[in-house]
Amino acid sequence: MESTILIKGIMTVHGKRDVLIKGERIEKIADNIDFNAQKLIDGTKKHLLPGFINMHTHAAMTLMRGIGEDMVLKEWLYKKIWPTEQKLDEELVYWGTKLACLEMIKSGTTCFNDQYWYLESAVKATAEMGLRSVQPFVILDLYDPSKFSKIKEDCFMAWEKSQSWGGANRFAIGIHSPYSVSQEMLLWGSEFARERNLLVHIHVSETEGENRDSIAKHGVSPTLYLDRCGVLGPNVIAAHCLWMDDRDIEIFSERGVKVVHNINSNLKIASGYKFRYNEFRDAGVTVTLGTDGCASSNNLDMLEAMKIAALVQKGWRGDPTALPINELLSLATENGGKALGIDTGVIREGSLADLILIDTDSYAFTPDINFLANLIYSANSSCVESVICNGQVVMEGRGVEGEREILDNVNRLYTKLL
Ligand SMILES: [Zn+2]
Repeated sequence: MESTILIKGIMTVHGKRDVLIKGERIEKIADNIDFNAQKLIDGTKKHLLPGFINMHTHAAMTLMRGIGEDMVLKEWLYKKIWPTEQKLDEELVYWGTKLACLEMIKSGTTCFNDQYWYLESAVKATAEMGLRSVQPFVILDLYDPSKFSKIKEDCFMAWEKSQSWGGANRFAIGIHSPYSVSQEMLLWGSEFARERNLLVHIHVSETEGENRDSIAKHGVSPTLYLDRCGVLGPNVIAAHCLWMDDRDIEIFSERGVKVVHNINSNLKIASGYKFRYNEFRDAGVTVTLGTDGCASSNNLDMLEAMKIAALVQKGWRGDPTALPINELLSLATENGGKALGIDTGVIREGSLADLILIDTDSYAFTPDINFLANLIYSANSSCVESVICNGQVVMEGRGVEGEREILDNVNRLYTKLL
């Protein structure tokens, strides 16, 4: 039998409403719904929002929180992160992903676009936690031709296994970046994705050095190089995109590429901060928001990411009207759904029931002059009171099932990485 949840008298952008959820979707939004649901939620002093969508993360990197502080990106990646990742195993990724899901649930994220190793462990953990995700097979060959055939074989196998995933996890192709993946594998990976209608998740122009190297090696920017290789299309989600000139943005617009802004990670690794939000938006590019992995950001808190994105955008442009609150919320919700091609990130009859309930009975929401401003600038993620994902309650009254077990297991296991 289909599960049913009725939320009574909760504040929405259209005023106080009742919301009925049937199965995985929102069935009805109305003034007064009379229905004998299996679960009844009292919406008094709460505000309903779509769950946040974290569009760029490496979930199990929660295991490496604090492992490489105060380092520059190249050194951090080549000397710290990649050698540490050699020690990962299925068990570590399983618990690391569970920890990430726990953190995401507690901070109001219901869907994430991941890029990490041990795919099956990550999917198992995510499904058990009840979250929605896009999980890619990651291509990273470091220009070593001896790795090509193994990567291709593994990718086929991963794709075949993914056919039995079901539920709320989707398979995708992760291409680490144009600087870490050979042209042959770039082409192969994007062709593999295109033939199967899969998303491609890639890092692009994260640092100025990456652009310089690309020009030295290929004669053009990373964007022009990817375009020349035929990689760019509407199925491509490009993370960072900090160092993009007008021509690069124009190409993204023409090809329908989606962009993920990851300000916390960018600031912390000092890759840059002048993300050209207005230019992307005005060119019609779908801009979304992410946190990046916990080794660089060091949390998965989308509310914090929203606030910092707005502050930095206003600051570097010297324009207090930059990145207004309503657009910020879209970046963190509906634009993510649009980019992933998943019917989430909105509160609409018929759309997926990925919802968060915000407790507004606190100093951060008092006085109640502007809910969104209070949410983004005054509150922190502890205001997320309950979370529903895919029509199932995954947190109620800030309690998440299995929380203690997750913390204990990560504490028991993380030393394997050190
Ligand atoms: Zn990343």
